[in-house]
Amino acid sequence: KSGFVSIIGRPNVGKSTFLNRVIGQKIAIMSDKPQTTRNKIQGVYTTDDVQTVFIDTPGIHKPKHKLGDFMMKVATNALREVDAILFMINVTEPKGKGDDFIIEKLKGLDTPIILVMNKVDLIHPNDIPPIIESYKDELEFAAVVPISALQGNNVEPLLGEVAKLL
Ligand code: GDP
Ligand code: MG
Repeated sequence: KSGFVSIIGRPNVGKSTFLNRVIGQKIAIMSDKPQTTRNKIQGVYTTDDVQTVFIDTPGIHKPKHKLGDFMMKVATNALREVDAILFMINVTEPKGKGDDFIIEKLKGLDTPIILVMNKVDLIHPNDIPPIIESYKDELEFAAVVPISALQGNNVEPLLGEVAKLL
């Protein structure tokens, strides 16, 4: 099994921390090229039976960065070409404009989306369900997975959910 996965989320939600944890020393490809292409490979995670290529979609998580309509379309179309999207949120912060911006871009896509609720080490488990509800109102998710990218909690099950979509 192999496929492409895009990670999106507003700044500081923990995307780099997650990638570092998953890919760690197993980095197969890292691209330092300027972000001129529609998809930038951030790393490849390989096990005996699954190969997952993690992709960054430049522009999709930068509402302040004024992209032209055309560039925005290019970025959004790139999300149609991946096998799965990880929409990462920071559970310690309320849903904000940055999240709403991403939600708007994700609406109407056929690509399966996993809601990754990061930084659960900082909250009480009871606080998780209401957060899920506030996102489920707006998008359909193939899975919802609370993790701590920093501590590694639940990262393996998340990779299992990703593998199901490849
Ligand atoms: P990015 O901008 O989405 O790539 O976010 P980073 O990976 O750079 O993380 C932003 C900050 O959040 C850093 O200080 C991380 O150490 C911290 N962070 C990331 N994941 C977690 C987590 O699961 N728990 C906690 N407590 N902090 C985290
Ligand atoms: Mg980062």
